[in-house]
Amino acid sequence: MRVVEPFVEMARGLWTTLRMMFDRPVTVQYPEQKKPVMPRFRGRHVLKRYENGLEKCIGCALCAAACPADAIFVESSENTDEVRYSPGDRYASTYEINMLRCIFCGFCEDACPTEAIVLGDQYELSFTDRHQAVYPKEMLIEPVPENGQPTPQITKAGEFTRSVPAMKDPQD
Ligand code: SF4
Ligand code: SF4
Repeated sequence: MRVVEPFVEMARGLWTTLRMMFDRPVTVQYPEQKKPVMPRFRGRHVLKRYENGLEKCIGCALCAAACPADAIFVESSENTDEVRYSPGDRYASTYEINMLRCIFCGFCEDACPTEAIVLGDQYELSFTDRHQAVYPKEMLIEPVPENGQPTPQITKAGEFTRSVPAMKDPQD
């Protein structure tokens, strides 16, 4: 019996290997292949733009106030019709998120009155030193849409006086 046992075990092992060869592979060849994330996944932040290219962020810093990890730093400056980054009076001249602090809770997204900051599907967040973990506005802001203009823009006087777009009444 003792002589036969290793051969039986080996045959069982080979059978398992043979059986698995015809199963659908579960491994993904990352980074060449990427699995789509779940719809409610919270990845790296994106600062959004309107279709015309203007930035949605108005530099109000409500996201920074709501952040439990103190990960966001916002500094705002004045818009003018000649040098306009966003609708309304102010825009974020500095916007930084410290990814070492962020816990991806999404409170910043909830607090934003213009839906400017969104946690997207980007999960590749590696860095090799602490300074690289502070993501500046240039890294966070999305590209200019196809029919939009880059910021700053020259706009007509009185065209973009509202910082927060008109919202639909949820009761309607
Ligand atoms: S996801 Fe949470 S922890 Fe991260 S920046 Fe936003 S509010 Fe702060
Ligand atoms: S992302 Fe939103 S909440 Fe944060 S500063 Fe910009 S507009 Fe204000």
